[in-house]
Amino acid sequence: MKPIQVTQSSMPSFEEYVAEIKDIWESRWLTNMGDKHKQLESQLAHYLNTPNVTLFTNGHLALESTVAAFNLTGEVITTPFTFASTTHAIVRNGLTPVFCDIHAEDYTIDVSKLEPLITEKTSAILPVHVYGNICNVREIETIAKKYHLKVIYDAAHAFGVTVDGEGVANFGDASMFSFHATKVFHTIEGGAVTYRESNLRKTLNEIKNFGITGPESVDIIGGNAKMNEFQAAMGICNLRNINREILRRKAVAERYLENLKDVKGIKLVQRQKGVKSNYAYFPVLFEDYKMSRDEVYALLKEHHIHARKYFYPLTNSLDCYQDRFEPGETPVANYIAERVLTLPLYPDLPIEDVDRICQMIIEGDPRERDHFLFSDKRENELIL
Ligand SMILES: *Cc1c(COP(=O)(O)O)cnc(C)c1O
Repeated sequence: MKPIQVTQSSMPSFEEYVAEIKDIWESRWLTNMGDKHKQLESQLAHYLNTPNVTLFTNGHLALESTVAAFNLTGEVITTPFTFASTTHAIVRNGLTPVFCDIHAEDYTIDVSKLEPLITEKTSAILPVHVYGNICNVREIETIAKKYHLKVIYDAAHAFGVTVDGEGVANFGDASMFSFHATKVFHTIEGGAVTYRESNLRKTLNEIKNFGITGPESVDIIGGNAKMNEFQAAMGICNLRNINREILRRKAVAERYLENLKDVKGIKLVQRQKGVKSNYAYFPVLFEDYKMSRDEVYALLKEHHIHARKYFYPLTNSLDCYQDRFEPGETPVANYIAERVLTLPLYPDLPIEDVDRICQMIIEGDPRERDHFLFSDKRENELIL
């Protein structure tokens, strides 16, 4: 049987992409904020319903550049239940991450534990919207105002999500979106920052282009993080099809939900009130289930179904941070990371495959079941 990956990139038709890149051949303008780049930036501002968007060559550099743009100092409060990128973006800017635990229900930062972590060295909060679940943005804003802290969201998972009708890009001082090939919306590799103050645009554009401000002037020590025209063209095509793709994801997610919602020992993420999801991931928590998360993962893998232990390990226990952080400080995050598995989810995933995956999780190894059906000898040994 054909292997099932945890995700599969959305693609426009070959013809649609070729038609989009034809202009690039004619103009010979391949990168450095060309027409496609400009077009995508304004289309995204429209789609995300937000005034300020700056594109980057990937989500990580978008985040790292944003942290740099705010000239932060000292400590940044964040969570370890995320991709390595979030923590690296803080550390690579010479700042110290301080890890706050997560909420047991939606896996975002537990705001009730946030205030005690604030010291005179704290300059910002960098929370993560996880799997499309949105952080408690109102409470975070209140705390940030009280202590004069910047808020930068890692919104890599939250493209197009709305909260009470408000686009998620409008919360905090800035939000980073990843347009990596595995994300709901992608530009092959790519990313963007959305932000409240429009004067940040100049700084971000300088940081992503060596700090160049004119033919003979380099103002700041920037890097290179520009999105090229072929990436932007892919984005323009994918954005045309995004609503349909999200609806197809929804159908897959709803089938999983229907199949798994009443299974004892399996916990599914509760839908958040007022949040319109993008169905980016389907996380399942194996809590007192007859199989452990690792056993389910191994069983699926044996049958060429590739689920993902996401997020595991926590970023505060990554090898590169050995002896620097104390993973014991975030017990809820530890608990979730040991038990969570994200199941394959992408727009083209056939419903029959969803059923097959769920059946395997519920009933165990199908080969064992076949033995049960066809061999009298094994019948007595197996307890189903
Ligand atoms: C994907 C991702 C990133 C990094 O984005 P890239 O575009 O791959 O650089 C950062 N944070 C989270 C939570 C992500 O899922």
